[in-house]
Amino acid sequence: MNSNKHHKKICLSGNGDCRVVFCPDCGTLEINLGEHKIRTNYESLHLLSSVLNHAKVQFAQIQNTLPATGNTQPMRLGRVH
Ligand SMILES: [Zn+2]
Repeated sequence: MNSNKHHKKICLSGNGDCRVVFCPDCGTLEINLGEHKIRTNYESLHLLSSVLNHAKVQFAQIQNTLPATGNTQPMRLGRVH
């Protein structure tokens, strides 16, 4: 019963190496990131989704406040000259 051999996993969503897979036979949700497999559940998936979205928005906002010079070094205010 616990054998995974005949479990037919369903890919719920995927893009490149990032996939979310569901196994109806044992009810497990898995996030596949390249070689990494993360066992999860619906609640964690929902949480992860909102956390990722929030991070995306925050990161975009931070990038918008940076000078558009492509300079990734820490900002040095004062003592410019
Ligand atoms: Zn399974």
